[in-house]
Amino acid sequence: MGETLYRKYRPQKFSDIHGQSAITTTLTNQISSGRTAHAYVFAGTRGTGKTTSARVFAKAMNCHARAPGSFEPCDACPSCIDITGGRSVDVIELDAATHTGVDTVREEIIENARFLPTRDKFKIFIIDEVHMLSTSSFNALLKSLEEPPAHVMYILATTELHKIPATVASRCQRFIFHPLPLAIMETKLRSIATAENMQIDDSVIRRVLATSGGAMRDAESLLGQLLALGAIHVTDAEADIVLPPTLFAETMQLIKILSKNNATDAFAAIETLFLRGVDMVWLHDALTRRAHELLVAGAAGTVPLYLGIYSDSETANLVSVAKELSGPWLTRLLEALIEKKSLYKTIASPFIPLHLVVGALCTDKNAAPPAPVVPVPQPQPRPIAPPPIPAPVPEPVRVPSPLPAPAPQPESDFDMPMVSLAEDPTEPPLQNSEYESYTPTEPELTGGITRDQLIRHWNTTVQYIVSEQQSLGIILAATSIHEIKDNLIALAVKFPLYREKLLDIKTKTKIENKMSELCGKTILYSVTHISEQASYSPEVTNIIDTFGGRVVG
Ligand SMILES: [Zn+2]
Repeated sequence: MGETLYRKYRPQKFSDIHGQSAITTTLTNQISSGRTAHAYVFAGTRGTGKTTSARVFAKAMNCHARAPGSFEPCDACPSCIDITGGRSVDVIELDAATHTGVDTVREEIIENARFLPTRDKFKIFIIDEVHMLSTSSFNALLKSLEEPPAHVMYILATTELHKIPATVASRCQRFIFHPLPLAIMETKLRSIATAENMQIDDSVIRRVLATSGGAMRDAESLLGQLLALGAIHVTDAEADIVLPPTLFAETMQLIKILSKNNATDAFAAIETLFLRGVDMVWLHDALTRRAHELLVAGAAGTVPLYLGIYSDSETANLVSVAKELSGPWLTRLLEALIEKKSLYKTIASPFIPLHLVVGALCTDKNAAPPAPVVPVPQPQPRPIAPPPIPAPVPEPVRVPSPLPAPAPQPESDFDMPMVSLAEDPTEPPLQNSEYESYTPTEPELTGGITRDQLIRHWNTTVQYIVSEQQSLGIILAATSIHEIKDNLIALAVKFPLYREKLLDIKTKTKIENKMSELCGKTILYSVTHISEQASYSPEVTNIIDTFGGRVVG
């Protein structure tokens, strides 16, 4: 579907080609004045229109109906129609990635070039990814370039100009195709959507542009996939099926947490996103993009169009956050993200690469932006004579901080401050007091379910799961509800092994599905390991009292 859309809207004339005006102007001047060269190199990153321009160029050269002094192909004569359909006998397209052998080059190009065109004026060879040719193939090609027959033209397209031997490149006119400005890509995507009677939200267009990485062909392919969904109006909800999420608010929040040297909250935020179903590689990529944007936005005072097209409020948000962070720190973040990205290939755990980034940034106190300096009280002078009673131990110095203090008692791999990342990214992380505000007097949770109902549903779920899988009975009996926040339940277990069992993807899905079914809305859970000592602490006892869970000794 995507490929179909790409072919359907592929430019067929020079006037359809946008974003490469310098190249288009030079080529059309050469055509109309009859001063074309025998060999060209079209170089540039993928999706910038090299092959498309080569085809339109070939079409103009061989058009039967083009008047002298003009440059546009008629797009209707037999030659134009055959080139559009990719079946012209005189315009030969080769992909060097699949034709690297010297024999192929000799047969298909050099030998073929000796014969006159079958029907049209020129025999034109368009060689895609020409840098992939072997050295001997380049040597064969070079002979033909040194003494080109008058009826032959070569257009060599490449994404890697430096890999073309200088002897070959020096015999060609070189054109460098620049990445398309996103604004031009946006205009084209909108015109395709309109032509296809598809209403598409601005935010979706921005996501397509961000995902395509500046390659028009990829952007059109993604748009084709959205079109294939069959929706008349494509919103972010539909786009979620095809496109990775932008995670704008989430990544901004996470970077703020990291900048405050807060590993606890960073680990918790990552886990919360995981529980929401966010793929860790997507998150890694989105963080990398955001760190890059912040780094540039901090210096430039805006987000350049080649990085991404953002709404006014998103741009303002990026710039204001960028100003709060130091350039060297953002550079470190970006470097850490890039360095750890390759680990996804070699490490089974989806968490480790991001956790290493957190570790790299949050363990070194010097890495964080300067924190406010807090005066530390002088130690009390030591009494000369031993006092009759021990001197009172000074309270540990507490550094005032806008961050939440570590979560109270549960000792776990990830403490559970449950930072809600879906909220306004300018909001500070939730304070502990908000977690502690749940009391039995609060009658209702969000979504019209009371706390009592939720606990009843949990008990029903436990009975159902145990009836199906008795081995989970012991584990579920020793599991208590530790915290409830919106549709997230934090479960507490005594042993790390129990935590592993409950986080097993099959078990987790089964339990969450049953809970969701009973509650009439999506319910997800995380699992915290509470140590033996902590499980007897007043806080946990209080939680158990509050939520009706139990800890089995
Ligand atoms: Zn024509």
